[in-house]
Amino acid sequence: MLILNSPEIAQATCLRWKTEGKIAFVPTMGCLHAGHVALIRLAKSLAERTVVSIFVNPLQFGPNEDMASYPRPYETDQALLREEGVDLLVTPSAEELYPQSFQCRVQSGMLATHLCGASRPGHFDGVLTVVLKFFSICQPDIAIFGEKDFQQLTLIQQMVNDFNLPVSVISHPTVREENGLALSSRNCYLLPDERALAPRIHQALLDAQRRASLMSVDAVSKLVREKLGTQFQIDYISVCAENDLIPQNDSQLISAIERPRLFVAARLDKARLIDNISLMPNEKP
Ligand code: AMP
Repeated sequence: MLILNSPEIAQATCLRWKTEGKIAFVPTMGCLHAGHVALIRLAKSLAERTVVSIFVNPLQFGPNEDMASYPRPYETDQALLREEGVDLLVTPSAEELYPQSFQCRVQSGMLATHLCGASRPGHFDGVLTVVLKFFSICQPDIAIFGEKDFQQLTLIQQMVNDFNLPVSVISHPTVREENGLALSSRNCYLLPDERALAPRIHQALLDAQRRASLMSVDAVSKLVREKLGTQFQIDYISVCAENDLIPQNDSQLISAIERPRLFVAARLDKARLIDNISLMPNEKP
């Protein structure tokens, strides 16, 4: 596995590889887990070369967020990527990616107004900016993103459409622990008693999915809130149509929403957990 810090050298390498076959790309912030591995295995099955980036992107963190404490187990990550047969790991420093002369930003549109976009101002502009940069550096034909970050996935597809980027965006379902907890690099912030509580999020979403077809948005929210109990600090519980990600009115019937999806963000002290589930009848969890 090649490891390159320099965006210029990584770009030159990928431009050369692109003449020989397809490149599939998986952008990450590191602290890799089985969710990342699933994306990487999918990438490997779809292209001749697999490129992974590890970059904790300062542009997407707010001033009071966990940029400084975000876990960076670099050696373990590297060993795992080697084991998975990744061709290139791109790990630029913040200075290399955003030199003093750096000025431009991608501005996300309507899709970033609600859900995590509302609680994390500027977050998705930062995400889209770094993903656009990595698309330019890594020249992917295919890029894989997880459904765990459904709003991010939707915004990236929108950016690809809006800017005519020659990249196929492919999604991968959320990978979970056996108890249902969505794998996340931030799960390492959970203390043992919080770890025991955290799977309630997925259990609540599953319960809502089972019963949603005859319910209103308000009833679904109440059900999830009740299932979570009082130990979670709830950021949002929202039902949106997948195409616009605008929270639906309380009185709206789930059955009247096109491609309804339920989104939750909740905090257990230091750990902010997000999850989502389709509320379409017959949709798998
Ligand atoms: P991150 O390193 O958290 O920025 O995530 C990098 C990529 O992995 C994003 O496309 C995420 O949506 C995806 N990802 C993170 N956790 C999971 C998971 N549990 N299942 C599937 N994909 C995930």
